[in-house]
Amino acid sequence: MAKVKTHFEESDVLIVGGGMAGTGATFEARHWGRDLKIVCVEKANIDRSGAVAQGLYAINCYMGMQWNENQPEDHVRYARNDLMGMVREDLGYDMARHVDSTVHMFDEWGLPMMKNEKTGRYLREGKWQIMIHGESYKPIVAEAAKKSADKIYNRIMITHLLMDDEKENRIGGAVGFNMRTGDYHVFRAKTVIVAAGGASHIFKPRAVGEGMGRTWYAPWSNGSAYALPISVGAKMTQMENRIVLCRFKDGYGPVGAYFLHLKTYTQNANGENYEKKWYDHTKELVGEYIDHHPTPTCLRNHAFIQEVMAGGGPIHMVTKEAFQDPHLETVGWENFLGMTVGQAVVWASQNIDPKYTNPELTTSEPYVMGSHATCSGAWVSGPEDLSPPEYFWGYNRMLTVDGLFGAGDTVGGSAHKFSSGSFTEGRLAAKAAVKYIEDKKAEGIKVSDKQCSDLKETIYKPLENYTVGRNEITGGTVSPSYISPIQGLQRLQRIMDEYVGGIATNYMTNENMLNRGLELLKWLEEDLEHVGAEDYHQLMRAWELKHRTITSQCVTEHTKFREETRWPGYYYRGDHLKLDDKNWHCLTVSRRDPKTKEFTMEKVPVYHIVDEKKEKKAS
Ligand SMILES: Cc1cc2nc3c(=O)[nH]c(=O)nc-3n(C[C@H](O)[C@H](O)[C@H](O)COP(=O)(O)OP(=O)(O)OC[C@H]3O[C@@H](n4cnc5c(N)ncnc54)[C@H](O)[C@@H]3O)c2cc1C
Repeated sequence: MAKVKTHFEESDVLIVGGGMAGTGATFEARHWGRDLKIVCVEKANIDRSGAVAQGLYAINCYMGMQWNENQPEDHVRYARNDLMGMVREDLGYDMARHVDSTVHMFDEWGLPMMKNEKTGRYLREGKWQIMIHGESYKPIVAEAAKKSADKIYNRIMITHLLMDDEKENRIGGAVGFNMRTGDYHVFRAKTVIVAAGGASHIFKPRAVGEGMGRTWYAPWSNGSAYALPISVGAKMTQMENRIVLCRFKDGYGPVGAYFLHLKTYTQNANGENYEKKWYDHTKELVGEYIDHHPTPTCLRNHAFIQEVMAGGGPIHMVTKEAFQDPHLETVGWENFLGMTVGQAVVWASQNIDPKYTNPELTTSEPYVMGSHATCSGAWVSGPEDLSPPEYFWGYNRMLTVDGLFGAGDTVGGSAHKFSSGSFTEGRLAAKAAVKYIEDKKAEGIKVSDKQCSDLKETIYKPLENYTVGRNEITGGTVSPSYISPIQGLQRLQRIMDEYVGGIATNYMTNENMLNRGLELLKWLEEDLEHVGAEDYHQLMRAWELKHRTITSQCVTEHTKFREETRWPGYYYRGDHLKLDDKNWHCLTVSRRDPKTKEFTMEKVPVYHIVDEKKEKKAS
């Protein structure tokens, strides 16, 4: 340990994660805080990090207010409908009213936007999506962040948040280590914005062994966005609302452009429209929600899953018709080449040319996110002018820990933000963080050397475990005294898969299974004290695993608490198979006590701010 070098950095605004939300936060912090010190710390390299690393083909959230295409309240209605009523409308509205200005900046910065030749407007893929040539999307937003920050640290994984030793429940910074040099980094800060993406690989993926890592969601998104705040006692919301995606089989290529722009459609193995078949059955479970337009994402999944269980699979995307048009054929391929090259490679390897063969679809393993068609994440304050008192405590996007802010996948309750909305939310969080400093709320923060040195011990312990334990290995990787990160990961994935509603059980769980899952997760947590890392890369894997495990515990506690099946197609509570608006038209909020590590759960009213009178009030 004595050999590990320690670096100290002080800042006013510290941004953890330089993905879409993190780059937005870094950019905006400079706008409002001209003289402040702004530092962004990223696990990879911000030029190609996060879910947008490979590029995107569409910006999925753009109102088009200048042409009166949509207004923010339309987006609130849309997200509310898709999430079966359960969103924070104050957060959604706030993001939506600002998102167009973000997209206009992307345009100015040189992101190639497709234009409708007749109208001159951005080319629409769907009601909310506009099309881009987006291979360069991430480097472009990274450049804005690099020009704004005092310093960007790449290759540093943040493992813990620092707390103020003087004032309870106030943030003091963060610590982590450099995966290349192994150096220890202490970032003391007045405010911290966590923008570390969502969580993949907590549920066992469909692709294991040779295909491991081939998931829809970025395999490097390891739930730090949740584990960091949970560990310091911040409240979380809607963590049960994991997402399952319908995607092209094996490559997880996106289907949005296919459905919306190419007008392709799905059918079962007999060429039938299977969705209609499941209408009555779904109505039994969720009532009138099945009649909403557009059909909520989870309910479309539900029909898919039921059809496959009833023997109607495989399900295909009908591409053969659209691909006869050379323009649409080009769009179909370009869609992958700009964001998911792997899907084209998979099709080549399986001899699938979508012009002649309708490709197969699948439903993915579940992921935890806050920015897609799902809204797991931190419980944050909303904006002053919109939020009811229960949703407002001084600073927009501040968590229930003073001075700790969140954006993008970190923030719960506000679905359908996507790349542009996450960048926008980063901007909103940064503006509020600067105000927090200007209001002198961050004076006199003290982070003791002891706190930093204790965390140093903790962080490097897996290296120590390995160095000592490897002497007992007699063959292969089997050690009597430590487990490797990959062994721990596979154990975690099986627990989540088999007990918490993964693919092994067709997304089914119940209270007994969840209790057993929680028990097994507890034992895993104990064993992770003995995780061993043979180098700095494995040390990162060890900490990713620890963050995934804390996130998984929170997901499981939430899933147990909500005694209904609110989102069939995302998961099912077999002991409460129906949607229950009478008892569960509410948001779920948890807090893990940092000392006892026990979770407490509560129901919080869901306020319908848009169309208040027409909508059902919170229970
Ligand atoms: C497969 C896929 C397809 C998508 N397609 C579209 C689309 O077509 N259009 C669209 O608009 N949106 C799309 N999205 C949504 C969009 O990518 C996300 O909404 C957005 O990236 C979320 O921003 P974020 O900053 O919260 O997370 P990310 O952009 O994922 O950024 C998180 C960052 O945090 C870093 N990080 C993580 N842990 C740590 C740590 N411990 N320490 C330091 N750094 C850390 C990561 O390396 C990463 O850079 C898609 C998402 C996925 C997963």
